[in-house]
Amino acid sequence: MSRTIAIFNQKGGVGKTTTNVNLSAGLGKLGKKVLVIDIDPQGNSSSGLGINKNHLEYSIYDVLINDLDSHKAIIKTDFDNLHILPATVELAGAEIELTSKNQREVKLKKKIEEVKEDYDYIFIDCPPSLGLLSINALAASDSVLIPIQCEYYALEGVSQLMNTIQLVKRGLNPNLEIEGVVLSMFDGRNNLSIQVVDEAKKYFRGKVYTTLIPRNVRLAEAPSYGLPIMEYDLKSRGAEAYLDLAQEFIDYTEEGE
Ligand code: ADP
Ligand code: MG
Repeated sequence: MSRTIAIFNQKGGVGKTTTNVNLSAGLGKLGKKVLVIDIDPQGNSSSGLGINKNHLEYSIYDVLINDLDSHKAIIKTDFDNLHILPATVELAGAEIELTSKNQREVKLKKKIEEVKEDYDYIFIDCPPSLGLLSINALAASDSVLIPIQCEYYALEGVSQLMNTIQLVKRGLNPNLEIEGVVLSMFDGRNNLSIQVVDEAKKYFRGKVYTTLIPRNVRLAEAPSYGLPIMEYDLKSRGAEAYLDLAQEFIDYTEEGE
C-alpha cells in the first residue's frame, strides 16, 4: 500500500524542505521506494537532491497545468530508491493559472494516482503558504507531517494550520490524518527548546516523534552540494537523527499492517 504525505506548515524556515529531503533519503536507504514531489516554486527540495533546475525538460508545472503524464516528469535521483518530480520557479505562476481551472483543488491528487502504486511513500514538499498549491497537496495526501522549529513562537500559527487541515478534511479529503510532528533545530542546552518539546507534546498528544532533529550545521551545508545528509556526512548528528526518524516513521506507519 502506497502512502502520500504532505510536509506542511505555512511558516517558512521551520525545516519542511530539510525534513523532506533527508527523511525521504533515509527511507530510500532503508529500502523503501520513495517519490518526492516538490510543489514549492523555490524548488529547494529539487536542488537539495542534486537536480539542476536549468536543465529540466519537464517539471511539476507541466504536470499540473498542461496535464503532462507524471511519469514523464519524474527523475531518478543519484540516491537509493529515490525519485523526484521537481519544481522550478515557473510554478509560481501556477497558483494563479490553477484558479481558472475546473477541479482546481484536486489536480495534484489526480496526477498522483497515475504513479501512486510505484512507490511505498510519496512526500510532497509544500510552499510556506495556505494557497492553492498547498491545498492541492493536502487534498492529495493520506496524511500531514508537520515540522515545528524549536524556537520562539514555535506554536504560533499552529491553530491556523490545524484550521486549514480541518477545512480540507470537511470539503475535499475526509480521510486526511495527522501523520506526525517533527521537532527540528532542537538544542538541548537551551531551555526554550526543551519547553517547545513539552508544549508540542501537550498540543499534539501522541503525535510527536521521539526522535528530535538537532540544530546541526552539516544539515544546513548539505543542500549546497545537492546531497542528502547521509551522503554528505553520514557521521554527523543530523544524519544520525534523520536515519532514526526514518526508522521511527516506518515503525509507526507500518504498525498493524
Ligand atoms: P522550510 O522548508 O520550512 O522553509 P528549511 O528546511 O528550508 O525550511 O530550513 C530553513 C533553513 O534552516 C535552511 O537554511 C536549512 O538549511 C536550515 N536548517 C533546517 N533544519 C536545520 C537543522 N536541523 N540544523 C541546522 N540548520 C537547519
Ligand atoms: Mg521549503
